[in-house]
Amino acid sequence: MEKCLYCKRLAGGDSELCKLHEFALFQISETLSEFIQQENPPEWLLDGIRELSWIFFGHPRTAAYINVSMEIADRFAIERLPHISINDIKEVNYTRLSPRRIISLLEDALIIRVENNIVYPGPLSLRLREVRDLGYPLNSPEQKARALEYHGILAISVLRSMLLEGEYIPRGALSVLTLLSLQALTSEEIQREISDVTWDSAFRDVPNRQENKMKRIMAGLLDGVTKMIHNINEDGKPELKTEVVSYLVNMRERYRERERTRTRM
Ligand SMILES: [Zn+2]
Repeated sequence: MEKCLYCKRLAGGDSELCKLHEFALFQISETLSEFIQQENPPEWLLDGIRELSWIFFGHPRTAAYINVSMEIADRFAIERLPHISINDIKEVNYTRLSPRRIISLLEDALIIRVENNIVYPGPLSLRLREVRDLGYPLNSPEQKARALEYHGILAISVLRSMLLEGEYIPRGALSVLTLLSLQALTSEEIQREISDVTWDSAFRDVPNRQENKMKRIMAGLLDGVTKMIHNINEDGKPELKTEVVSYLVNMRERYRERERTRTRM
């Protein structure tokens, strides 16, 4: 039997991925295409995007990709520039990674399109430009939600490209998706409480120090806002937010629907 490309679990029959990572990749691909294509994506999907906006926080190795993608998306979506010169991208100068590699990943993430050294907005930046200006005050709940979606979809898109490219797998960000997949695929009725077994299985390829850091961010110790979890209960177990459970129920239904269509063909 083959091993999964992203972990040491066994891969499924005709796939190079284990069940968990097949569903993880499905979640982010589905989220990205839905966000780009739908004028009004369902609220459960936007909830999912917002709750994933933090997955690259505090991780130096992936920070460069996120910084550059934010810089470029801002210039297209907020400053509304029609195009920029490749030499005008400042953040690539603050990393040791090759600029060409970053640019090609961002192209793949649909954030940019490059022609003759000119950078144009890709489908995702064009979409972000549309959702940006809805006229809410900056400090309103609506605007805060939009800002989280903005960060969230960029993070999701960058993660998807990294996974598909396969050269560098961001273990921390991936483990969050593994956690969601485990929670959705382990029991028919999706539980709010995350068991120790599920938690340990999700984070088993992540160094302890990073795992603890991520747990603190989820618990809201970074900025006073919990991510994905509502609380840590009396037994010391994290409990997912209602919105996250609802996101998982809907996403799992879509996944199963796709599997059914596939086996019918
Ligand atoms: Zn796997």
